[in-house]
Amino acid sequence: MHSGPDIVPSFSTEQKLAILGQMDQAEIRPCKKCGLCKQRNNTVFGEGDVDARILFIGEGPGENEDQTGRPFVGRAGELLDKMIVAIGLQRSQVYIANIVKCRPPDNRTPTPDEAATCGPYLVRQIETIAPKVIVTLGLPAIRFILARNITMGGVRGTWHSFRGIDVMPTYHPAYVLRSYTAEVRGKVWSDLKMAKERAG
Ligand code: URA
Ligand code: SF4
Repeated sequence: MHSGPDIVPSFSTEQKLAILGQMDQAEIRPCKKCGLCKQRNNTVFGEGDVDARILFIGEGPGENEDQTGRPFVGRAGELLDKMIVAIGLQRSQVYIANIVKCRPPDNRTPTPDEAATCGPYLVRQIETIAPKVIVTLGLPAIRFILARNITMGGVRGTWHSFRGIDVMPTYHPAYVLRSYTAEVRGKVWSDLKMAKERAG
């Protein structure tokens, strides 16, 4: 568990934009805190509605994201967009970020060290945005958020908490693409529906 006070909405839209813009420009773009800085073309801060009720957290930039500086713009991103539309929202109405802001070489999973080094940026994004619900996509995201070494089968579809914010873990869209079965699709749909209901 991450310690710290419960996260409650504390900022106006303008303040959020200023805080996040400053973090991106002054800290993340020039960041050299971990080895992932070496091969990146662009850092990927995250994007969306700073007042979003749902925050999606992925793993880290892939090739398209590294090229464009934007999260989830490749094939996994297309599926994420469809998942968002399926629960009655547009991509512009949610916020999308990742555990690490620089692309791991060959799209490997970020190491626990890299996640721990970059993670405090994500925590500050969460504190600033103060969403109602967090949806984590894939294992690295929920492992970081819960600070526990869990399995997807053991946690998905049930509610967890990050400093007072409700957290719903689900599969990563890249995994859904790889194992496109009715069972996996049904589980993701059920997880997202619960998240939408709780977010209001
Ligand atoms: N996969 C992720 O986890 N994040 C992205 O931004 C893109 C693909
Ligand atoms: Fe910095 Fe995160 Fe990029 Fe590592 S992954 S260099 S901690 S921004």
